[in-house]
Amino acid sequence: MIRLENVTFTYMDDDFPAVDDVTLHIEEGSFVVLIGHNGSGKSTLARLLNALLIPTHGDVWVDNMNTKEEDNIWEIRKKVGMVFQNPDNQLVSTVVEEEVAFGPENLGVEPEQIEERITKSLEQVGMSSYRKHPPHMLSGGQKQRIAIAGVLAMEPRMIVFDESTAMLDPQGRKEVLETIKALKKKDMTILLITHFMEEAVFADRVLVMDDGKIVMDGSPKEIFSRTEELHSYQMEFPEVIDLANTLRSAGMNLTTDILERDQLVTELCRLL
Ligand code: ADP
Ligand code: MG
Repeated sequence: MIRLENVTFTYMDDDFPAVDDVTLHIEEGSFVVLIGHNGSGKSTLARLLNALLIPTHGDVWVDNMNTKEEDNIWEIRKKVGMVFQNPDNQLVSTVVEEEVAFGPENLGVEPEQIEERITKSLEQVGMSSYRKHPPHMLSGGQKQRIAIAGVLAMEPRMIVFDESTAMLDPQGRKEVLETIKALKKKDMTILLITHFMEEAVFADRVLVMDDGKIVMDGSPKEIFSRTEELHSYQMEFPEVIDLANTLRSAGMNLTTDILERDQLVTELCRLL
């Protein structure tokens, strides 16, 4: 779905590249989580994927289309949707259905088809009953789900979530994560950028960024077992993994594949 070959991006007036010689392939249908401390280059990488930024060096290919070729840009933007951090900056309409229609209208989709897409997208994010509501009256989590519906209405092949849960309360985060997990089941290709490490547990693959480079790349289980390396990139562990590690170093014979709370509980019950 996505190929980056030796991609470097340096912002104007910056001395150092924000993305530094990254080579990365993302498989169609995979669920990839990207983590890394503030300023490590995650958002820059995200914007390179749908031609919001064009590499200073190297190439980005989306479905075999190079983002450098201007003729490809609209096709690429259609294929790779983005959901950003702040729901309030993304919503432009006064009624939910208009909000969801905005993307497909810009793409020149026929009105009857837009109607169908609104219905389907709102269904997918569980917001059908809010169709006639004003978006600004909704909760943060609901607003993000409307933003996701707006992206889905463009029928993308891939969605990039750039810290889309960061500004939400726990309930909103849960709603949005459930929505993302449901999309994964429908074989959408997903790149989830997050600083909540526990969200990485659901991934097929976890990438860690530091100083513009991909410094770790593996399954959640593998990445979370590389404790010291993660700490050296200033990453905090999910609480449950931290606790499991502490219990292990205190001498409890816990299995090494604990990623979620339920697994820890089951394992503790077994030992006790
Ligand atoms: P992250 O999303 O991981 O926090 P970013 O991609 O936003 O990282 O930033 C990577 C680097 O690029 C940082 O050093 C940041 O200061 C710089 N940067 C980001 N956006 C801009 C910009 N618009 N102009 C100049 N420098 C930027
Ligand atoms: Mg960012």
